[in-house]
Amino acid sequence: MSDNFYKKLIQESPIGYAYHKIICDKDDIPCDFEFLEVNAKFEEFTKLKGVDIVGRRISEILPDITTYEIDKIKFLGDVAINGVTKEYEEFSEPYQGWFKVNVSSPEKYYFVMHFIDISKEMSQLAELQKNREKITNILNATNVGTWEWNIQTGETEFNERWAEVIGYSLEEISPISIETWRRFVHPEDFKISENQLKRVFDREINYYDVDCRMKHKDGRLVWVHDRGKVTSWTVDGKPLTMSGTHTDINGHKQTEYELANREATLKEAQRIGQMGSWSWNLKNSEVVWSDEMYNIFGIDKDSISGRLGDAISKVIYPEDLHIVQAENAVPISEKKPFEYRIIHSDNSIHHIWAKNGEVIYDELQNPVYIEGIVQDITQWKTINIELALAKKEAEVANTAKSKFLSNMSHEIRTPLNGFIGMIQLLEITELTEEQKEFIDIAKKSSASLLSLINDILDYSKIEAGMMVLEMIPVDIRRILADSIDLFRFTIEKKGLIVETFIGSAIPENLMGDPFRIRQVLSNLIGNAVKYTNTGRIDITVKKVENPCNGKPKLEFAVTDTGIGIPPQKMELLFKNFSQVESSNTRIYGGTGLGLSICKGLIEKMGGEIWVESKECDGSSFYFTCILDQGTIMDDASTTCDKVLIKFPIYKLLNLLIVEDDEISMTVIKKFAQHKDWNLTVVQNGKEAVDAFDQMRFDAILMDIQMPVMDGYEATAVIRQLERKKGIHTPIIAMTAFALKGDKEKCLESGMDDYLSKPIDINDFYAMIRKWSED
Ligand code: ADP
Repeated sequence: MSDNFYKKLIQESPIGYAYHKIICDKDDIPCDFEFLEVNAKFEEFTKLKGVDIVGRRISEILPDITTYEIDKIKFLGDVAINGVTKEYEEFSEPYQGWFKVNVSSPEKYYFVMHFIDISKEMSQLAELQKNREKITNILNATNVGTWEWNIQTGETEFNERWAEVIGYSLEEISPISIETWRRFVHPEDFKISENQLKRVFDREINYYDVDCRMKHKDGRLVWVHDRGKVTSWTVDGKPLTMSGTHTDINGHKQTEYELANREATLKEAQRIGQMGSWSWNLKNSEVVWSDEMYNIFGIDKDSISGRLGDAISKVIYPEDLHIVQAENAVPISEKKPFEYRIIHSDNSIHHIWAKNGEVIYDELQNPVYIEGIVQDITQWKTINIELALAKKEAEVANTAKSKFLSNMSHEIRTPLNGFIGMIQLLEITELTEEQKEFIDIAKKSSASLLSLINDILDYSKIEAGMMVLEMIPVDIRRILADSIDLFRFTIEKKGLIVETFIGSAIPENLMGDPFRIRQVLSNLIGNAVKYTNTGRIDITVKKVENPCNGKPKLEFAVTDTGIGIPPQKMELLFKNFSQVESSNTRIYGGTGLGLSICKGLIEKMGGEIWVESKECDGSSFYFTCILDQGTIMDDASTTCDKVLIKFPIYKLLNLLIVEDDEISMTVIKKFAQHKDWNLTVVQNGKEAVDAFDQMRFDAILMDIQMPVMDGYEATAVIRQLERKKGIHTPIIAMTAFALKGDKEKCLESGMDDYLSKPIDINDFYAMIRKWSED
């Protein structure tokens, strides 16, 4: 081949070509080079023209090069002098492209440069690099583990996150192979994975996609979602490489599990409560029933065809069809629960309670679903019907019982009236003391029997609904006075203080049933007196602020300082025949009917009755009643209460009579008995001292001359005893010696006052009052 041919070949080559000679300085160090030959491609790449550069040194073409590219010249010199071949990549500014440059030396001091344009490869590489970075960033951001697996060799690569998901660092689980994965995956899930991989390798499915449990470093199992794809195949069609992701889905699985659990619980609750639910998707008009809906309507889920609503229509009891149709026509906002019957698959009739039309909105407040619930209430209905029947039967039996009691009470009252009348007649005949005592007991017994019969009669009347109220004028002050009067004797005997307060705003012209109000009030006062041994009873009446339908309403309160009521017994109080303590019957008497009669009467009068009490610390019973009013309404304030009646304090007196003379003693006894005072009678000073030692007296009436111990001596001993006890008892001398100086003698001996015999009844009472009033 001719030289020309080679020259042409070089000139037209797609590879850039430049031939140079290296120039060395005096120390034989390369410092410049000269262009000997270049081809067309070189000119294109470097934008330098051969005619301009051939025969010239580089330092002439680019004067600065020896300073900034001296290392490059030395590098080229190394090739030219030492004959080594070098390769490097370089970016050309004028060409704006990348070259791969090959430098070789055909002869010492000469070197050839070949330039291949690699701009395309370089930009592909840069793109690849960018993509890789992007993927790495995404993987880091999503916290996804990655894996690459050479199926044929078993070589595997995981990223750091892969190991982190199961609690390790990559270093801890190295060396990594496919065995590493096998070691951590749960055996059951490994089988599922294997199965899926086989299907991917057989090209049955494109993706490998499993959730598997893996052993975490801390010993627990964690859920991991694994997804992958075969990325290359061998020429003979075998899978070669596969890569994929490995994601922690533990939280997600946990939520999924909780959701499933909640759904199962809801389903179970619906089954137990025989309650079904439905929802109508407003977007696609799809209606979904809960499983229990099918059970309630006796409809087979699998055999259903057509609309669910039609399936229901077929089982609705024909007579109730109109109820359902009417309800369906009601606008959603006005829907209310309703009931209808259905014929179940076994032909039995079931009662259904339904609530339709709850609208469910999405977070943007758009309506998305309409929901409703139904419940099979057959069982409940049956029980209710049975209960209603039983209640009716019980009511009939109760009315019969009440009527019987009412008849019985009437029957008993008639002979009892005759009995009481006869006792009264007997009382006015001449009787011995003993007979009088017997009559007295008979009178007391018949009175309590009569009161019991009255109670039973009232109770029966209330129970049977036969109680009729009067509508006559009501005088509150009279009612109060009469009610208290009934117990005056016991109040005095116990020495209780009773005060009444009547609100100033109580109208004068009230109408109602004064007898029944008095009955309730006297029952409460009677109880207060019965269950209070010392202290006071306050009875108040006031007008309640808000009248009931314009009618005046009064509130009564009876407050005592008695034994009180234990909290657990309070609710029993107004129940029939209940006493707080059964021992109360023995101590205080009573049947436990009183308060329940009061409750019945009060309710009949449109009021309420209640109690506030503390055991051992008194009780307050309250009741209200609604009355009618005459013409004028007194509208004064109810807050300013005024004391209307204050009862004088009649203390029960406990007297000690020291008297040895039979006749004198009988006279004093009669005087004292007339006032119902309590008497202790002894016959000499010694007995008086003994009695004083055992009991407290409000006053002592002391005879002077007595056998065993006289009045002076007895007074001295008593005063001595009193000093120890820190008390003082009035001692009144009673003596037939009315001589001058006797009174002084008595006072000197420690007595307080003096009555001379024969004792005048009025003097006696005045003397006792003088020394017993506080
Ligand atoms: P009773 O005829 O037994 O008094 P009530 O119905 O009037 O029947 O009273 C029921 C029970 O309530 C009484 O037995 C007593 O235990 C209790 N009770 C009623 N009032 C009082 C009160 N003021 N203080 C203490 N306990 C009372």
